[in-house]
Amino acid sequence: MLRRLIRPARRLPIWLIFSITAPFVFEVLLHLWRYSVPRPASELDSPFFTTCQEPDVNAKRENAVLVMLARNHELEKANKTITSIEQHFNKWFNYPILFLNDEQWSPRFIEVLNKTARGLATFEVVPQEQWTFPEEVDVNAAKQNIKEQGEKGIPHAGEEGYHHMCRFYSGKFYKLDILKKYKWYWRLEPDVDFTCAITYDPFVQMARHKKVYGFTIALWEVGKSCPSLFRHMADWKEMMRIPSNGLWKAMVSPSWVPFPLRKFMSWLPYRDAHGDEWNLCHYWSNFEIADMDFFRTRAYQELFDYLDKKGGFYFERWGDAAVHSLAVAMLADPRQVHHFEDFGYRHDHLYQCPANAPGGQLPDSPLLGSGNWSPEMDNGIGCRCECDGRTTSNHPGFCLNRLKQPTSIKRPWYSLIL
Ligand code: GDP
Ligand code: MN
Repeated sequence: MLRRLIRPARRLPIWLIFSITAPFVFEVLLHLWRYSVPRPASELDSPFFTTCQEPDVNAKRENAVLVMLARNHELEKANKTITSIEQHFNKWFNYPILFLNDEQWSPRFIEVLNKTARGLATFEVVPQEQWTFPEEVDVNAAKQNIKEQGEKGIPHAGEEGYHHMCRFYSGKFYKLDILKKYKWYWRLEPDVDFTCAITYDPFVQMARHKKVYGFTIALWEVGKSCPSLFRHMADWKEMMRIPSNGLWKAMVSPSWVPFPLRKFMSWLPYRDAHGDEWNLCHYWSNFEIADMDFFRTRAYQELFDYLDKKGGFYFERWGDAAVHSLAVAMLADPRQVHHFEDFGYRHDHLYQCPANAPGGQLPDSPLLGSGNWSPEMDNGIGCRCECDGRTTSNHPGFCLNRLKQPTSIKRPWYSLIL
């Protein structure tokens, strides 16, 4: 009796196994293929310049402003950033600088920063109604949840102000009265170093090349801060029948699970309703040069309002970087995104450092003056970069490669498996 029970099941014929599995395998391959990122026939996003330029101080400027949100206690770090951008850019181009705070500015902050900014700065307080919980959110529940998020160790998630900041930068900032008169902004943060000379006007180049969003560094988002963000974004995209362009596809890691089981994967974090996953790649938004008209479009504002009502700026810690990046991927054409790969940039422990362009440093330039810079290297594109392009490369990795795929014909060997 026992022998009969444990007798091995009759082997299924191979042709039967094949006929059952083949359609599923075929469907999975088709699904993966639908998410393959199309490569362009020619480079769609190259550096605007690959050598130093004689700064054209008399050229027409764009309607642009440098913006820094900060707190009074960040005086020294804010001053460091402004000193750096002065030295490397604004002493030639004289763009206005706007400081924003959710509290009154201390007289000391104004005094010190105004001096560093050579009187080009304005100091504003964000109106209370732009820096608070949306109507739909139960404030007490949100505060309790923020406390719990902090205890779980999600970066910044225990700070109420940080949640307001992310919501503000995601959807409110472009509508401030003080910013209405501007089209372009360059976002600055305290504690930033610009490590190369920026000898051309990036706003003028963005406009000339029809760009809407510029970045320096791309990296992974902290997954725990936004488990449901991608689902809501993708739901909205589907509701609005927005087709997937190459950039959206570059943000997605399609599931290998066969239909119809794939759908069950949608219960997992950062998945869309079909079970496909956001790879968490996004542009690091402490540096942004962008067209505010993009964020002022009806499509973006409706997307923001949709997200806002979901409460994830408080019950999770959705970052403005992730929101901007996924929105750009959804609503902009990949060729409208620009990587400022010629900029030397550092914030926290992350940096981008181009090597200096061979023969492109304009050593006799009257405006750039004399100075020291790192060695020039073949294929270097930097202008007088002080960071060492020999030992420090552009912030490497998966996300930069992914997000550049829709615009770049250069294929690193590992792009085949990414
Ligand atoms: P991280 O770069 O994401 O680690 O966060 P930061 O601490 O650098 O904050 C991002 C930006 O938001 C910086 O410009 C901060 O000055 C600003 N920020 C964050 N929280 C607050 C806040 O409560 N009030 C104000 N005024 N600014 C804030
Ligand atoms: Mn920061």
